[in-house]
Amino acid sequence: MENVPRSALLVTPHQDDAEGGCGGTIGAWTKRGTEVVYVLCTNGDKGSSDPNMTSPRLAEMREREQQNAANVLGVKEVVFLRHPDGGLEDTLELRAQVVREIRRHKPEIVMCTDPFRSTSHTHRDHRVSGMVALDAVFTYAWSYLHFPKQIQNEGLEPHRVKEIYLWGSEAPDTYVDISESVDAKAQSLSQHVSQMREPQKLQERIRSRAKSVGERAGLPYAEAFRRIHSNPGFLHWAEF
Ligand SMILES: [Zn+2]
Repeated sequence: MENVPRSALLVTPHQDDAEGGCGGTIGAWTKRGTEVVYVLCTNGDKGSSDPNMTSPRLAEMREREQQNAANVLGVKEVVFLRHPDGGLEDTLELRAQVVREIRRHKPEIVMCTDPFRSTSHTHRDHRVSGMVALDAVFTYAWSYLHFPKQIQNEGLEPHRVKEIYLWGSEAPDTYVDISESVDAKAQSLSQHVSQMREPQKLQERIRSRAKSVGERAGLPYAEAFRRIHSNPGFLHWAEF
């Protein structure tokens, strides 16, 4: 892939999902000038197998880890929505929060987890955050009549996102070469200390996974996405 987007906004369910799903792509793009923002939906306060860990302590640790990981990849801002881990619901409130960030940052593309999977299960928060992100792009973010108070009271404008990149897809159609950022991906993931079981094997694991994804596209190392072109106005009216 030759062209990089001007800006990208990721709607990501938990700490470390963004780096695991597209850390190589983010690292490659920010190096070439893409402005990247994360919207992190949950506080990750259940992601521990330590019986002595508490949710408030874990949430605090993971927020710090997420910020460090984003810094490694040159991410401009992490927006922490802090919904409870495993408690993400497809509500008007969450949709409004995601729409607000889309209108605030005006990204060219939005990235999120693919909520449509039929041959493997995925975490509920992944399904919900993916669905909410897709709905926020179309139709909520672009219409003056959705969440009008954001426009009247917060000085925001409707925004049309050009494309959506879904990670964790069963049917990827787009491969991004991450040869130059595969190690940055591993380094960003290594910031999630509370989630690390075998940190010494991380870099090799990331390289080997990216290599096998790359083989499908004739690239040395890659990440895979399902890409949805988003021209909501056109699609909407074309239906009639
Ligand atoms: Zn997750």
